[in-house]
Amino acid sequence: MAAHYQMLIKGRWVDSSTKERFPSINPFNQEVWSEIPQASEEDVNEAIEAARTTFDTSWKHVNGLERARLLMKFADLLDEDAERMAALETTDNGKVIRETTNQMHFAARNYRFFAGYADKLYGEVIPLDNPMMFDYTLREAVGVVVLITSWNSPIAILANKLAPALAAGNTVVIKPSEHTSATTLELGKLIQKAGFPDGVVNIVTGDGRVGNYLTQHPGVNKISFTGGTETGKLISRNASQNLIPVTLELGGKSPNIIFDDADIHAAVIGAVAGIYGASGQTCIAGSRLLVQHSVYDEVIQKIVDKAKTIRLGNPIDPLTEMGPAANKPQYDRILGMISKGKDEGAKLVYGGHAVTDHELKNGYFIAPAIFIDVDNKSTIAQEEIFGPVLSVIPFTDQDEAVQIANDSKYGLASGIWTSNVKRVHRLARQIQAGTVWVNTYRTSAAQAPFGGVKLSGHGRERGWHALLEYTQIKNIMLNL
Ligand code: NAD
Repeated sequence: MAAHYQMLIKGRWVDSSTKERFPSINPFNQEVWSEIPQASEEDVNEAIEAARTTFDTSWKHVNGLERARLLMKFADLLDEDAERMAALETTDNGKVIRETTNQMHFAARNYRFFAGYADKLYGEVIPLDNPMMFDYTLREAVGVVVLITSWNSPIAILANKLAPALAAGNTVVIKPSEHTSATTLELGKLIQKAGFPDGVVNIVTGDGRVGNYLTQHPGVNKISFTGGTETGKLISRNASQNLIPVTLELGGKSPNIIFDDADIHAAVIGAVAGIYGASGQTCIAGSRLLVQHSVYDEVIQKIVDKAKTIRLGNPIDPLTEMGPAANKPQYDRILGMISKGKDEGAKLVYGGHAVTDHELKNGYFIAPAIFIDVDNKSTIAQEEIFGPVLSVIPFTDQDEAVQIANDSKYGLASGIWTSNVKRVHRLARQIQAGTVWVNTYRTSAAQAPFGGVKLSGHGRERGWHALLEYTQIKNIMLNL
């Protein structure tokens, strides 16, 4: 029987006030494995009111050391529960168990990193021209923060937001994706177990309507969003009505560039992991592979050989290397984009078809696709596919590589594979992206800032930079 989940509002587990619910589907077998409440506007108002009252009456007086203690405790609980949480997430979005397990620990690491800052949010003393005036700043929490997340990595993405938001002393209302709400609700139980007071963390569930209520609400002080670029624009529009600051972590079409002086073996492994990890359903997927002419044929051959060995299967099996697309709309979209690529004349040299063998017959499986000789102006090179589809594009020299890399409306991540140190530093400055990986790809760290430029969004997560998103400066000027 499907698990019956409830929402967390002011420390109470509740159904939607309308009793409306929707199914959550396991993309491996299309079984309804859980049921999730569809929050009403009334529920959203209640959650925001809970966050507001808690912030104003108690949480803002809790000191940094206590916030750090709670975050550390919570991180320990998440680590201890990682196996169970990972299995739930794999059931919900089809990501392979090795990756969901790593993500639970990565999230815990993030909570610890920000716990360390909770009692170190210093202001400054500012020297003024007049020595009889004394000026200083306080770094304060912004208040009630709304966190809206996507389905591809619910817990890891939430940690990027929730950890700095709580460390800085805010209260929050979270809305996970309607495709993957269960693990976020489970996380709410760990928040309670860690001892966070009621109302500090509230979780409402449902589709875009719920996100719309949240982002239009005048009682919110800050919004942080991870999801698609078009949704990001809608949220920005809503937020502008109340002049609320927004952090936007949006889509990408990241270039991964292989030069002929690279360690080709390492580059191929990086390119394959960069696009087929999480079945390509990551914002940082290295979906455009730029390869220098002199090694073009060699790289393609090696990538095809490697792609052939990728083991598709039940994502809960530790031996599985690639799981299904996370949901039916996503599955249809990926297959549609592959057809479009063929129609536009790109050469599909491997994969790209639905896989329905044996135990995979009810899952949303697609064989890793490799298009070569792709025109960077074509749809598959310009639009985010968010699936296991690689577009290989040849280039002649460094200038052409930069020109192709930057010919995109997105600017999230990028990769460079070369042994030329001078080239690395030059390119790193020229590429328009929030992250430049060199001789590695899809590597993340709690300490390193992450975010996008252009239509990939604005604001930064992780690193101390994330704290700037969840705090505001107050200036105090005294006449001595
Ligand atoms: P999505 O934009 O469809 O949904 C994201 C969230 O927004 C969900 O919780 C959804 O319910 C909510 N939402 C939908 N309509 C809304 C509205 N009108 N107002 C407020 N909220 C609304 O994105 P998705 O399909 O869940 O995720 C895939 C996208 O997320 C991809 O574009 C991917 O690149 C992006 N992403 C970005 C990052 C990053 O860090 N930059 C990370 C992961 C995913």
